[in-house]
Order: sequence, then C-alpha cells, then structure tokens
Amino acid sequence: MFKGTDIKPFESKVWLASPTMHGEEIKYVQEAYDTNWMSTVGKNINEVEKIAAEKAEVKYGVGLSCCTAALHLCCKLAGERLYGKPAISHGALEGKRVFCSDMTFDATLNPVVYEGGIPIFIDTERESWNMDPVALEKAFEMYPDVKLVVSAELYGFPGRMDEIKKICEKHGALLIEDAAEAMGATIDGRQCGSFGDYSAVSYNGNKIITGSAGGCLLTNSLEDANRSRKWATQARENAAWYQHEEVGYNYRMSNVIAGVIRGQYLHLEEHIAQKKTVYERYAEGFKGLPVKMNPITEGTEPNYWLSAMIIYEDAMCKQVRGECDVAYIKEEGKTCPTEILEAIASINAEGRPIWKPMHMQPMYRMHEVVGREGTLRCRTNAYIAGGVEDVGADIFQRGVCLPSDNKMTAEQQDKIIEVIRACFE
Ligand SMILES: *Cc1c(COP(=O)(O)O)cnc(C)c1O
Repeated sequence: MFKGTDIKPFESKVWLASPTMHGEEIKYVQEAYDTNWMSTVGKNINEVEKIAAEKAEVKYGVGLSCCTAALHLCCKLAGERLYGKPAISHGALEGKRVFCSDMTFDATLNPVVYEGGIPIFIDTERESWNMDPVALEKAFEMYPDVKLVVSAELYGFPGRMDEIKKICEKHGALLIEDAAEAMGATIDGRQCGSFGDYSAVSYNGNKIITGSAGGCLLTNSLEDANRSRKWATQARENAAWYQHEEVGYNYRMSNVIAGVIRGQYLHLEEHIAQKKTVYERYAEGFKGLPVKMNPITEGTEPNYWLSAMIIYEDAMCKQVRGECDVAYIKEEGKTCPTEILEAIASINAEGRPIWKPMHMQPMYRMHEVVGREGTLRCRTNAYIAGGVEDVGADIFQRGVCLPSDNKMTAEQQDKIIEVIRACFE
C-alpha cells in the first residue's frame, strides 16, 4: 500500500515493457524445427530480412544476433567508406571523432568505441528530447573534419532525424540511425530506420516487437548489405575451405529467433496502437499536475514505445544522485523521479529513470559534449553546468519512464496514475 492511498500491490507485476506474444510466432518456430533449419540460415531469416526492409522502406535488411551487432557493422561500413580499409581489418574509426547522441542507451555508441572512434556527445533538444540539430551544427563548426554522426530516436518519439540527415549531407558526413526504439514511428510519413546511410533496429525483449533477441541492419546498398552479411558470418571467403582475408564476427540471427520475429511483425501496428492508448491515458490522468509527457515533435508519428514524463522545476523537491545511489528530501506539494519510482514500485509496477546521459557516465566523462553554445563541459560529470544549459542532465534529473506495457489494463494504469498523483501531495 502506498502512503495516502489504499491501493494494494498488483498480484502480477506491471512491467515497463515486456514481450507480447500472439500465437503465429510459435508456428514459424515450429516450422524451423520441423524442417530442421535450426541454424543461422533458413526461411525465417530470409523473410525477416525482407519484412524489415519493406517495413522501414529501405532496400536491404541483414538479420543479426542483436541491434548492437548491427550498429557495430554500421560503424565498420561507414568507417571503411570514409577512411578506407584499416590495415588489420578492425579499428575502422581509429582515432576519429564521431558525433553521437548523448541521452540514449550506451549501445548506440559503444560500437563507435569498438572500432577505435572517439565519441563527442551532442546535447539534447529540449523540445524533442532527441539530438539537437542546432547543437550538431555548432559541433560541425567546431570540428569540420568530423565525417560520421550516430543518432538515436528516444523512446520511439522521433525528433527531426530528417534535419539531422540534411546537416550531415551539408558537411559531407554519413549518418548511422539507431532506430532500436523507434520501429514503425514516422517523420513526415517516412519510416524511422530509413534516414541513416546505415540504420539498425532491435528485437530485444522489451522493444515494441521482439524475437527475445535479434537485430537488423538496414541499408540501400546491396554491396554493403553483402559485406556486412559476410562479416557477420566469420568473414568467410568464397572458397571450398575456410578462407579468410579479414577479421570476422559471429553475428548472424538464429532461424528459430527469426521465426518469433516473423510472427511479431504481424502485430507491430497493433502494439503501436496499444502503446498510444497507454500514452494518452497518462496524458489525461496527469491533467492538472505540474508535469509534461514526453514530447511529440510536429510532423512525426511516434510508436509510443515508452511513455515518460518530466516534472516542472518548481514542483521538484531536492534530489541528489551519486554514481549509483540517490537521496531526496520530501517537501509538501513537491516530488522527484526517485519518489515517483518508489511509489510505482510499491504497487508492484516498474518504472525507470530517463537514460542517464552519456557525458555523465564515468566511462565517457573525459569526452566532450557540445550544446548550442559550444562545449558544455569537459572533465566533469556534475549536472549543474555553471550557468550553461545542459538539457540532457536536466531531463535526466526531472524525468521518469512510466510503466508502458501494452498488456497493462486501464484499471491498473488508473492505479499507477493515482499513486503518482499522491506524490504531489
Ligand atoms: C535496445 C537498444 C539497443 C540495443 O539493442 P540490442 O538488440 O539489445 O542489442 C541499441 N540502442 C538503443 C537506443 C536501444 O534502446
């Protein structure tokens, strides 16, 4: 029971986002079993590659073990196209600066580091919660030699990835689009996953559709699709024996998992509609509270993967986060993400803080982050930015991801809304 309410914990946990199966998935898995294609080749993979490309409105899809693997191969493709083939066939971005989304999952940009690149983070746009195109322009002004941008759509609510692509083109840079969270979302009617020179989607267990795992690389270049497929298959050359001219990876998708994904694609639109209902119920339920839902950018249609909200500054009580712990001081009429997450957890539901910005992460604290007026800071991870606006740190401080499972009932959601409302008392 949460203070101030008489709400009892849910018997089974309401998740942030959990897999939702429908029945077709097991049919395709069974087909893989019955035909003995229990391997990393087979009909399910071919079908997933076709569907993924069609859905994202690109020419080719390459089915892989996960989206992180897809992003890694995106980095290799981009690196080799920009800087040529590295002598020892890895380190395609060795010593090169790469502009990266700041407020995202670290899998967006870890692959840049796998290839020896140096991420420079681009601050977040307040209106969209995505990479700030103005800050990106500023970064190109400061580093005109940069030739690669890695940008993600946050929580399935895209910003103007089309504008980011235009800025890249203007500066002769390539774009890697991490559409892991944004499958099925659109910008001016165009599918997310179609804006990058190379793009990636994810079928991780908590994404809008899932195979339990899996990812897909998306591109319009047949040559690049074939190259990444070869790298993903241990870089085997076309010979009777195992012939190798470069370093390879074991990144291929399993035909069993592909069966699950194949079945899930049939329900993508349905999942989006359910997630949209969840978002709208929150928006309605929070009316009158000093909060705002995560923004919908004009001209975009989100896939509503995760509902999130931000507390107005004047309704925030004091909250201080260390590296791995947090404390807050309750004040009447005020709250903070920590209290709200506790309230949600107290009734057996799952919320989460906003992605902690990369420039605040210990492993990236020596990296630069660029905002609209230039470098925000270097060599510090404090969130108070000495008068210079640090949008990512601010959204992290005041934002919360809400339980967004598409199997959550209206009744359960009403209770979640009620315990959140009680935090403002
Ligand atoms: C989930 C996610 C990934 C990683 O996807 P996997 O398939 O688990 O490797 C990458 N980027 C973002 C933004 C994600 O949310």
